[in-house]
Amino acid sequence: MKCEICGCKVYGEVEVSEAHLAENDTYIIKVDENERNWICCDSCNKIICHKCCKNPATGYCDACLGSINRHEYLRKAD
Ligand SMILES: [Zn+2]
Ligand SMILES: [Zn+2]
Repeated sequence: MKCEICGCKVYGEVEVSEAHLAENDTYIIKVDENERNWICCDSCNKIICHKCCKNPATGYCDACLGSINRHEYLRKAD
């Protein structure tokens, strides 16, 4: 996988595993987030490395975050 902006290689994966708890017979979904240097933008689904993203914690790339902020601004200005 490569960053869509700078083309550098990205690493780290999100592992989803299912575990069965025998004592109360339930299944739990476990999400292990290994350390990774990229996000998959929630809006445009692009793979963006942290170097190309100012706010990776938001889950959005800069372009989408910018347009979201603009919408927020427009809503407030309304
Ligand atoms: Zn990049
Ligand atoms: Zn995006």
